[in-house]
Amino acid sequence: MKVLVLNCGSSSLKYQIFDMKNEDVLAKGLVERIGIDGSRIKHEKTGKDPYKADIAIPNHKVGVKIVLDTLLDDEQGVLKSLEELRAVGHRVVHGGEKFARSVVIDQEVLDVIEECVPLAPLHNPANLMGIRAMIDVLPNAPQVAVFDTAFHQTMPDYAYIYGIPFHYYEKQRVRRYGFHGTSHFYVANRAAEMLGKPVEDLKIVTCHLGNGSSIAAVQGGKSVDTSLGFGTVPGVLMGTRCGEIDPTVILYLMEQEGIDPKSMSHILHKESGIQGVSGISSDLRDVEEAASKNNPRATLALNILCYGIRKYICAYAGAMGGIDAIVFTAGIGENSTTVREMACTGLEFMGANIDRERNNVRGKEASIGKPGSPVSILVVPTNEELVIARDTRNLAIK
Ligand code: AMP
Repeated sequence: MKVLVLNCGSSSLKYQIFDMKNEDVLAKGLVERIGIDGSRIKHEKTGKDPYKADIAIPNHKVGVKIVLDTLLDDEQGVLKSLEELRAVGHRVVHGGEKFARSVVIDQEVLDVIEECVPLAPLHNPANLMGIRAMIDVLPNAPQVAVFDTAFHQTMPDYAYIYGIPFHYYEKQRVRRYGFHGTSHFYVANRAAEMLGKPVEDLKIVTCHLGNGSSIAAVQGGKSVDTSLGFGTVPGVLMGTRCGEIDPTVILYLMEQEGIDPKSMSHILHKESGIQGVSGISSDLRDVEEAASKNNPRATLALNILCYGIRKYICAYAGAMGGIDAIVFTAGIGENSTTVREMACTGLEFMGANIDRERNNVRGKEASIGKPGSPVSILVVPTNEELVIARDTRNLAIK
């Protein structure tokens, strides 16, 4: 039973194909620079060396065709015929308030994803291109949409309504939505399995720390709060996004420096965060290295990031009335021993005691707290593709 998972960006397309019998990844790859000079495919059949080819890929439809041709290829492929592909799962960034779970895609679902384009103007159009291309090429396979926002739809209204006139929520749909939901869902459930307890009995703070970051309070398996909001700027310091900011700073700068909304958006999304504070790089590895050589702004960026994470962990422990586990995931959460140690130092008062030796781990599941501590600290590599593949199997394959 084979399922294809697709994650489309505006000029890229990532894919993985699973055999859902044992949830094995048969192959995965990336189509890059769609519609731009130098487009190419990188494909990796499990157990074989990666294969790369430069091919003209003018649009997503051609990209999807090339992926399917590669999956059928005698040498690189994992399918004998497209009939073997039972369903396709798509990552969709924004489902607004309409989708609290994954759905089989029909015209009505496509219309709602389209309606959500103003809420995610960079992502939803790319996701739609991927879905439409796949429907064109593979009209008989069911397609499933898995939304980044869906997991956070369980937040109570007092966590998602902003303190501005209520009609902006009613008319403009302005509220906290939250993102990375698939990742928070996966790592919270996996953490419960690692702890040998039902997720329904646990209060977990999940820290998805990558180039984009968000922290979530997961109580009884449900998201009750999260640090990203209407958009993808608030919360903790990110690669190039500023994280928490007083909104009057934005108004002040626009007035004082004559910055227009588009340029301000660029500053907040692309020039801020770890990059903006350190002036070195958006990549935490570069900043950690500079901080280890006492570069003051690299040290400051690292301090802002870790202080922010610690504050969110405490805030969400308060929001849930307790905390059983802290989970670290994504590029930084899975790999940075420094960030995990700095973020957890000072949390001993709540029973979270990081163990320096056990924390010396990268990219694999581990328990990094001192044994016997009331609050567990875990590293759980995220696996959004597996969640998408499972939802696709469960919804689309009878
Ligand atoms: P992601 O968006 O999840 O791919 O995460 C990207 C971020 O993870 C970048 O800031 C990387 O610098 C960071 N990262 C990846 N590997 C490491 C590592 N070994 N140590 C520190 N940060 C890392």
